[in-house]
Amino acid sequence: MESVPCPACSTFFIPRNKFQSFCLEPGCQRTRKALWQKQKLASDPDYKEGQRLSQKKWLQNNPDYWKKYRLRNPEKAGRNRSLQKIRNMKQQHSPKPSKIIGIAKMDARKSRVQSLSGQYWLVPTVAKMDAVKIFIATVPINPP
Ligand SMILES: [Zn+2]
Repeated sequence: MESVPCPACSTFFIPRNKFQSFCLEPGCQRTRKALWQKQKLASDPDYKEGQRLSQKKWLQNNPDYWKKYRLRNPEKAGRNRSLQKIRNMKQQHSPKPSKIIGIAKMDARKSRVQSLSGQYWLVPTVAKMDAVKIFIATVPINPP
């Protein structure tokens, strides 16, 4: 059989049969399974309901899971909090025609300049991309 590229890692491999499209690397098999499950969830309401009930039951048996997860992964927890804040803001401030923003107060930004320093998540709103962590530091305009 002719070697084909794995869609997950792009490595060429010889498939066992005409149905095998992913190589046998564990990461690629996880990708294949995740893709299968995503398609199954989208196309099979019974499977989706079964997964939902199974997850609900599992969470009842492991009530501290997410609390421990956040303690183990403070970086991810912070990122998720930031993304949730953005989702909440989008929901609260959905554009309404009657709400027109007037002229900004010219010196309003001055008092906040110092507080801009810090780490932020740069979240694309148009394309479906991963958020990127950036660091913003303020630089004085007139150095001493
Ligand atoms: Zn692969």
